[in-house]
Amino acid sequence: MKRPDLSLCSRCGRCLSVCPLYLETRLETYSPRGRIFLLEKGLKNHPSIRFCLRCGRCTMACPNRVRLAEYLALEPELSPPFPVKTAGSFLKGRDPSSSRKIPAPRSGSPTLFLSCGALYFYPEGTQKFIRRLQESGLDPGLSPPLCCGLPFLTLGWTSLFRQKALETLKALSDTRGPILVLCASCLWTLTDLYPLFFAGEPEEETVHEIVSRVGDALESALRHFPEAFPEGLVLHLSCHLRKNPRDIPFPTLSACCGAHHPFLPRPFREELLRSPPYLLATACTACYLKLKYSLSSPPDVRHWAEYLSV
Ligand code: SF4
Ligand code: SF4
Repeated sequence: MKRPDLSLCSRCGRCLSVCPLYLETRLETYSPRGRIFLLEKGLKNHPSIRFCLRCGRCTMACPNRVRLAEYLALEPELSPPFPVKTAGSFLKGRDPSSSRKIPAPRSGSPTLFLSCGALYFYPEGTQKFIRRLQESGLDPGLSPPLCCGLPFLTLGWTSLFRQKALETLKALSDTRGPILVLCASCLWTLTDLYPLFFAGEPEEETVHEIVSRVGDALESALRHFPEAFPEGLVLHLSCHLRKNPRDIPFPTLSACCGAHHPFLPRPFREELLRSPPYLLATACTACYLKLKYSLSSPPDVRHWAEYLSV
């Protein structure tokens, strides 16, 4: 494993204005710079460390590319207090066998990464996306059901993360052409965490080959069938999506929703109140769960693929 180098931090403070937890608390210890300082002083049990959202906004703002989110994500003993009940209680009463409606895997390009979210949380959206790709003549292949492993890493269960990651790498190395991913957090795990986690290991080369083919399903949808999105849609730009609002052809809500934390961060609340959306789309399974639980309707919260017209 290659741990990101936190000593690159020059204490410039550019990351403060983008960190949802700093903006909420206005406390230096709850800023990215503060967390790096705490870690350097060996104070890794400070609550601020566990409460970091691993959103990666500080990395994007940092002139020195200090990768604090990735550093913390790969440290199992620093795992955040994650409400394990959330996903389980959401799944209760849902019939995962609805995934059977998804067409059987076919050879071809691109391949759709069938993540937990794509199969169990928004399977109708997955089916719509597949149908739209087929209508666009793209003849998508499907991966077997896979988990990138991030939920396990978030809980500090590194060996289960490794097991899921190895299964994912094995399945994806059997594919050819682009691999499309519907969940921004899976995307981050595949492209940012796997290269660090498997650095120096026999899987390193496979990881790099797969990462070179992994892409965002939303980008593909916007390129091939932008007319399939409904009017009035507002897209929540999940942190791990790493998209500039300028690249999205409809209004966006760009503040962090707080993911696994029980509160909605202040910038999110303020943005939501400024122009309340009626149709709110997410691009990440963690944000999908958070927003479904935290917001009363309206807005109607769905994965963007569920909004596609077919
Ligand atoms: S922006 Fe980067 S270098 Fe500047 S204080 Fe934050 S982490 Fe350190
Ligand atoms: S990963 Fe997100 S919550 Fe954590 S320090 Fe960086 S910006 Fe703040």
